[in-house]
This record gives sequence, C-alpha cells and structure tokens, in this order.
Amino acid sequence: MLDVDYLLVGGGLQNGLIALALDQTRPEARVALIEQGARVGGNHTWCFHAGDVPAGLEAMVAPLVERTWPGYDVSFPRRVRRLTEPYSAVTSARFADVVEQTFARRGWHLLTGQRAAEVGAHQVTLDDGVVLSGDLVVDARGPEPSAVEGQAAYQKFVGLELTLSADAPVTEPVLMDACVPQTDGYRFFYVLPFSPRRVLVEDTYFSDSPTLDIERLRREVLRYAAERGLHVEAIEREEQGVLPLPWRAAPPSRSTTPLVAGYRGGWFHPTTGYSFPLALRLAQLIAASAPEALAGPALDRLVARQARQLRFSSWLNRLLFAAFAPEDRRNVLERFYGLPSDAIRRFYAHDTTGADRARIVCGRPPRGISLSMAISRGAFS
Ligand SMILES: Cc1cc2nc3c(=O)[nH]c(=O)nc-3n(C[C@H](O)[C@H](O)[C@H](O)COP(=O)(O)OP(=O)(O)OC[C@H]3O[C@@H](n4cnc5c(N)ncnc54)[C@H](O)[C@@H]3O)c2cc1C
Repeated sequence: MLDVDYLLVGGGLQNGLIALALDQTRPEARVALIEQGARVGGNHTWCFHAGDVPAGLEAMVAPLVERTWPGYDVSFPRRVRRLTEPYSAVTSARFADVVEQTFARRGWHLLTGQRAAEVGAHQVTLDDGVVLSGDLVVDARGPEPSAVEGQAAYQKFVGLELTLSADAPVTEPVLMDACVPQTDGYRFFYVLPFSPRRVLVEDTYFSDSPTLDIERLRREVLRYAAERGLHVEAIEREEQGVLPLPWRAAPPSRSTTPLVAGYRGGWFHPTTGYSFPLALRLAQLIAASAPEALAGPALDRLVARQARQLRFSSWLNRLLFAAFAPEDRRNVLERFYGLPSDAIRRFYAHDTTGADRARIVCGRPPRGISLSMAISRGAFS
C-alpha cells in the first residue's frame, strides 16, 4: 500500500499550491496527489493582486504567472477608474506544467486519471478499490454546487481566449466593464490582454440562477469583442464556470482528519469567488509544520481569521442579492470602486480591516436598495 506523509486529494488550485509550498519548505516530505482529470489544474485562469502573495512565497508563485500588469481598469456608467495595483494571471496550463515538473523532480507520486471514492482520516480509497494512506490527508476536491446549504447566488461566465489579426486597443486588464445591459443579475465583461494579439474575454454574471446558456454567451463575447475593436482571427481556448456564492458560508473546520481545504473547505471569498490568496495562506501554513503537528494554534488562528471574514462577506452577499433587484446590483459595485485602492485590494484578499468594513457599508446607500425586499427574502433571518 502506498503510504506517504501528505496525501492530497484533488489536483486543483489548492492542492497544487500545497505541493509547491512543500517543495519549497519540506523537500524531504513524501507526497502523493490524486486527480481524476488527465492533468492537474483543470481549465482556469486565476488572477490575483500583487499584495495577495504572503512574504516568503514570491519565488514559488513567480513561475506560475503568465503575465503581470501594472494596473487595471473598471468601467461603470458613472465611474471609470484605473487602479494602480499590480494584477497577475496564472493559467492552468502553466500551473500544470510547474506542478508536474515538481512531482517528477522530487520523485513524488502524481496519480492523474484516478478518482477518489472515499476520503477518510488517514486513508483514501480509489474507484478501483486501491487504498492509499497518508499522515495528513488534504481533501480539496473543489466546489460542490449541490452541497451549498440554503440560499446562494452564482458567479458564472463563458470566456474565450482570442487570437487577433491586429493589435488590441487595450494593454491592461479591464476587470469589470459593466457598461453593458444588466441581464440575469450583475453583468460585466472581463478582458485580459495577455499580449497585443492574444486576449481573454469573459461574459460574467452575478446571478440568482446557475443556468449557463453557453452558446448565447459565446456569441455575446464575440459581439463585445467586435464592438471594442478586437479583430478576432481565431478562438484558441474556451473556459466556463459556475461558482456558488453562498448567502451563509460555513467556517472552515479545524479538523485535520482529514483537512478539508480549498473551496470545499470554506477557503474562498464568497462575494468575489477568488480563492488564490486564501489557498496560498493555507498552503504556507501546511508546509510550515509537520503533518502530525498541523492541528494547533496557528491553524486555529487562520481558521478564526477566515471565519471572521466569511461572516462579513457572506452577509454582504445577502445584502447584494436580496436587497437589490438584479438590474440594480451594478450600483453596489460602482459605489465599491470608489473606495481607496488599498481597501479594494484587502477586500479581494479577504483581509478587510474594521475600517474597511465600515467604509463598505456606511454612508449613502447605493441606489435601488430595498430593506423590505431583503427581509422578505430571508436575508436577515
Ligand atoms: C467565474 C469564476 C471566476 C474565477 N476567477 C478566479 C480568479 O480570478 N482568482 C481566483 O483566485 N479564483 C477564481 N475563481 C475561483 C477558483 O477557480 C476556484 O475557487 C478554485 O479553483 C478552487 O480551488 P480548489 O483547489 O478548491 O478546487 P479546484 O481548483 O476546482 O480543484 C478541484 C480538483 O479536484 C478534482 N476532483 C474532484 N473530485 C475528485 C475525486 N473524487 N477524485 C479525484 N479528483 C477529484 C477536480 O478534477 C479538480 O481538478 C473563479 C471561479 C469562477 C467560477
């Protein structure tokens, strides 16, 4: 029976980062990773702000980055703003290359194309009945939309990576172009110009429904691209996603038998859907202690910090999705982008201070707020 120090279940963002952190901090560790897909990382583009990377992990993160831009834009009917916070993108293809090379270099076990059927405290049973064991089992099998308790909204999108026949008129990301019809909730386009002739364009919705009309959104992306002066030569790649944004998010568990990590374990931001900063923090903590010593005060502190942030951000979800009609939700984001850039970055990093939280909720409310609608939809019960 394969027996290792760290048995990582699910080869997505969280466990890939844990493996890279172990490579940096505990090269002598014995590690195995089980992934049902043919490669680790799936089909994603993960973005983060420069300040999201904890001190000590910069060298680990650098090879994952496809492109870093010095700033980015947001665009609303009454607010256009450039933020000067550096912003980086990690593609899953590059992520897979780096993680796979690390496993090969260390002689660790990368079990792709294998599905975990049962995940226990120290053992995992695969679909074919093979049993593996580990001192620490990390269950990061990703979002499970059916498991979201109670009400939830959804962040959903279709993105096309486009090759262009002429240079794109944008050189920096457009994080949100919300100057588009507000159908199916808060809607915006997301534009990442990887190079003058290679651009990712996503049609994104903060919606009450998980239904994704892929064909229609593909057409919408191409229409938007043409309207913005992007001359499309070919569609290189497509990605899509439906991520639950719960109204009430359970805090991460302190249990390490097994440790439930990543999105599945509550290590994500329920308002933005971002999980890169949280996955990095947890990976750093795991790599800092021996498997049997992980349960303890440092993990408790990180869990408590995430639980505090989750309380606030899932409360914001209730406000955003229950107190505003779908077509008015854009007003909330438009107001949010008037905050100081540090507060915006801390919000994305799920690291808000008390002052940030006060700034977000105090003052003149965005147009369209209806507390009676929120109460009737159960936002405060
Ligand atoms: C619209 C949208 C945009 C997003 N943008 C960003 C962003 O810009 N920045 C950011 O930080 N996050 C972003 N996210 C969120 C981010 O993609 C996820 O939260 C993140 O990938 C979660 O990481 P994870 O490791 O928990 O799960 P995943 O990355 O989903 O990985 C889980 C892995 O487990 C595997 N698996 C599942 N079940 C089994 C099994 N039984 N056996 C073996 N393997 C299994 C899966 O195949 C998968 O590879 C976005 C999500 C969406 C939908």
